[in-house]
Amino acid sequence: MKAFVTGGAGFIASNLVDELMDTGHTVTVYDNLSSGKKEFLAHHSEKANFRLIKADLLDSERLCEVIKGHDFVFHFAANPDVLRGLEETDLDLKQNAIATRNVLEAMRINKINRIMFSSSGTVYGNTGTDIADETYGGRLTISLYGASKVYSEHLISAFSHIYGLQAWIFRFANIIGNRQTHGVIFDFINKLKNDPKELLILGDGRQTKHYLFVKDCIEGILYGIENSREEMNIFNLASVGTCDVNFIANAVCEGMKLENVNFTYSGSKQGWKGDVPVSYLSAKKINTLGWKPRLTSEEAVRKTVSILLEK
Ligand code: NAD
Repeated sequence: MKAFVTGGAGFIASNLVDELMDTGHTVTVYDNLSSGKKEFLAHHSEKANFRLIKADLLDSERLCEVIKGHDFVFHFAANPDVLRGLEETDLDLKQNAIATRNVLEAMRINKINRIMFSSSGTVYGNTGTDIADETYGGRLTISLYGASKVYSEHLISAFSHIYGLQAWIFRFANIIGNRQTHGVIFDFINKLKNDPKELLILGDGRQTKHYLFVKDCIEGILYGIENSREEMNIFNLASVGTCDVNFIANAVCEGMKLENVNFTYSGSKQGWKGDVPVSYLSAKKINTLGWKPRLTSEEAVRKTVSILLEK
């Protein structure tokens, strides 16, 4: 496969690039390095079947030129900073929605017809204690980030219908693990390095979600692609079980060997406007197909804490 990976220098996609390279594929990474890091890919830089292009998805001309000749697009690039997206209300629109349109248009022009898209469980909106499978409907997303993912999914569907693309859309739970550069575990470690006595937790600490280890996520993506053949293939990717933010705070303190840390809470049920306090995703569809994650949410959190502390 000649794979084109947008956002390939980022946390999740750089782990996918490792897997694709290990299995002998040719890989081009297209990344503006806004949150991605060149060092995540440094071990591939001298290989003949690898290329890193530092460029922006909003530069359609460059994108259209360099995507030529590839046969599979893995589209990961997006704004990962949900809080920044609250201040700059066109950030998710440009970096996620318009960027996705540019990827699809470049594919159409160059007759590339297979795409994988990294979506999110946030498309289901504030589900409360409902367990959302891929057919769950009736609630609308509550974040600008979520809205841009909904739009991107629908645009992929429209391109697929009109121009004959085949698509695999994965709605991820929270993904954690090696090379993570943002998210709750990363934030808690940084906060506690600055002040080992006090930890400010956004929300009430009881926000409860699935945490999927990044290696499981990559295996799930590749398994889903290999084992489904519809025009539009949509899968939730989530771990078994959930955990709450208090569990994560305690796991980080334990990992850092800190005792008697004073937890303070910003108060409301939501960590921030747009945050879904509770999210239960059903991964039954892909489980039935044969993929199961190796780690539970709690195991994934503990493993990620130790990986991030090692660095
Ligand atoms: P990340 O920030 O580590 O990766 C995003 C990459 O995209 C970065 O390398 C960044 O430099 C690049 N990028 C951003 N805008 C770009 C642009 N305009 N042009 C070119 N490159 C650009 O984030 P991640 O956590 O690895 O997320 C990857 C994808 O998975 C995103 O689409 C994200 O929305 C989705 N996702 C992530 C999670 C999670 O828990 N991390 C959950 C659900 C969905």
